[in-house]
Amino acid sequence: MTQNSRIHYYSDGDILIIVNDTRFRLHRNIMGLASKIFQDMFNCATPSPQNDYNNNGIYDKIPEVTLEGESTALTFEDVISFIYPNTFIPIGWNNVSEFLRIADKYMMDSVLSASKTFLEREFRKKPLYALYLADRYLFREIYKESTKLVFEKFPDYKRLSLFQELSIITRSKLINQYTKYTNALQKLSKIDFTSGYLHCTECSSNLNHNNEINEKFSERVRQVQVLPLPLPLPPPSLTRKIFFQSIGNNICDSQFMVHQLSRKFNKHFGKFEPLECKKYYKDAKFYLFIELE
Ligand SMILES: [Zn+2]
Repeated sequence: MTQNSRIHYYSDGDILIIVNDTRFRLHRNIMGLASKIFQDMFNCATPSPQNDYNNNGIYDKIPEVTLEGESTALTFEDVISFIYPNTFIPIGWNNVSEFLRIADKYMMDSVLSASKTFLEREFRKKPLYALYLADRYLFREIYKESTKLVFEKFPDYKRLSLFQELSIITRSKLINQYTKYTNALQKLSKIDFTSGYLHCTECSSNLNHNNEINEKFSERVRQVQVLPLPLPLPPPSLTRKIFFQSIGNNICDSQFMVHQLSRKFNKHFGKFEPLECKKYYKDAKFYLFIELE
């Protein structure tokens, strides 16, 4: 038994949309502006086979379309509330996935943009879920940013059932990248931090300075060392932070940090970056990440 929508049944509406057991009486111009697919559907819509009466009890025959594949009318009703100017519904974690599904299915650009904007703003609260949606709808920036945070607690995230919902490509890329990080941690003692370093002219003794630097870095290596396995592993941003603590105040110290250490660290661990939204912060953390191809 089909019933009229409580919220979106307008007597001056000129198109009926049936979703599951609910009838929406809407305006072709509003719906057509929101969705190219609806625009096309309306052009082919035929008048309702049943008699239809508007709210004043006056008989009028208007075209109708039925949306297939929706298990409930509730999501559609929410999306209409988002599109229509007289109703308001915020996009949140509870509806963003369904909004994206409908926006994608019916090519609703404004609903898609609003859902994407929500994820860009909020992904830090649920990085794995944001990654899952970015993976699915190919949002490059959100994908990259979420992986930065997913790697921070990777063993925990990997255990969640949502992890299995990621595409197989994303799953294997994440696992490979994290394995590389783990291997790099295990091979830390092989890095010669000072090899190839050209001390600046102000440096009083290259040999002494090398020794000082090596001593500091042996200590840092011990702090993040994983053999014999003291689990859990340090999160990537912590490892980087430990290595990039200042080693001193003279010119040669700074030169070492900026040029030599960055080169050695990147060569050993790969590229790390801060979050896009934090990149101008002085103490921004640097993260491991992967990108959507
Ligand atoms: Zn020096």
